Amino acid sequence: NQDLATFDPQIAEVLDNELKRQRETLEMIASENFVPPAVLTAQGSVLTNKYAEGYPGRRYYGGCEYVDVAESLAIERAKELFGAQWANVQPHSGAQANAAIYHALLQPGDTILGLSLAHGGHLTHGMKLNFSGKNYQVAAYGVNPETYLIDMDEVRRLAHEHQPKMIIAGWSAYSRHLDFAAFREIADEVGAYLWVDMAHFAGLVAAGLYPSPVPHADVVSSTIHKTLGGPRSGMLLSRDPEIGKKLDSAVFPGQQGGPLMHVIAAKAVALKFAASEEFKNRQERTLEGAALLAKRLNQADLSEKGIRVLTGGTQVHLVLVDLQDSELNGQEGEDLLHRVGITVNRNAIPFDPRPPRVTSGLRIGTPALATRGFGKTEFAEVADIIAETLKLGAQATDEELQPLQARVRALTDAFPLYPQIGNLVEG
Ligand code: PLP
Repeated sequence: NQDLATFDPQIAEVLDNELKRQRETLEMIASENFVPPAVLTAQGSVLTNKYAEGYPGRRYYGGCEYVDVAESLAIERAKELFGAQWANVQPHSGAQANAAIYHALLQPGDTILGLSLAHGGHLTHGMKLNFSGKNYQVAAYGVNPETYLIDMDEVRRLAHEHQPKMIIAGWSAYSRHLDFAAFREIADEVGAYLWVDMAHFAGLVAAGLYPSPVPHADVVSSTIHKTLGGPRSGMLLSRDPEIGKKLDSAVFPGQQGGPLMHVIAAKAVALKFAASEEFKNRQERTLEGAALLAKRLNQADLSEKGIRVLTGGTQVHLVLVDLQDSELNGQEGEDLLHRVGITVNRNAIPFDPRPPRVTSGLRIGTPALATRGFGKTEFAEVADIIAETLKLGAQATDEELQPLQARVRALTDAFPLYPQIGNLVEG
């Protein structure tokens, strides 16, 4: 009956320290966000105790009458939000949602065509060490070496050459819209399924700020925790209930046992919030912030140092910084921003001349700061801080960085995070 701080002070301290870190730094990892307190409550609840193998109304365990309500609400809200006829909210993560798609629609050895990891695709789209790369024949498309944009003529050419059973559209590091209608056309030409992985941009789709893949794809997968701002987990959507049936059995019993009912309840809460005006406003601020950042990083003082924005701008929640002509590499850029209290990740750019552990790119995202309440004024200040920090270069001294650190702290202090949560450990 002891509380966490008494029973396990070491773990309580981890929670306190992580809360402090989140409060006192600017979180700009493009795939991260802050969940609303209502999501924390649902996720940290007694629903974690419940086994519920099966689906609402068709369970293999007794006592599921309340968790059935939670899962049915999550399914209905997901369908409504994205205009889908069918949804499955049980995948524990984005990668597991994706694994279920392979399991449902392909046989091992079938060919897939997706965006290569090196050009912004995800591990589960055919990377050689991932299950997708090991079990399937992988053909990959990349971006055009001049424009850094996906070239649909090239996708078409590769589709006709490789005759894939499934074409994958979706990305982890790309800053532009995708042409889902063109992907559909190509898939139809070669008789392939079209799967869209909208993990990154689902929140923008929900707010009507990114083209929706749902009318075009056979199946859409997503995470709930990136722009969508909910608990760490995945989901699947389709407009075709027949494909939905195959996907249901691929998730359970195909590859998962008991669903995480506490997370499913938290998903329901997040999906309810995603239908609100407040959420839409947040997504608008997310895009405004990214556009301001791209504009600032494109200015002459940085391009003189070889620091540019890939594709020249962004239509989404992230900016890809191109450091291939800069003395500063991706690792150094990440470390430098960390020193002033800004968290980003280094990211290989297409045709990256540096090794994957170093890279020539940074991926900088605005979703978490928009959730924190940042608008134009704050994002302009963030953009200036980032530009001034990168301009100093890897040799920057602590004295040079100190004023920038102070500006970061002024921003974090002005937008308190989770003010209702207290420390677990005294002192
Ligand atoms: N799909 C895409 C496009 C992603 O960017 C990611 C995560 O980075 C995933 C899937 C996997 O999600 P998870 O980390 O929840 O397995």
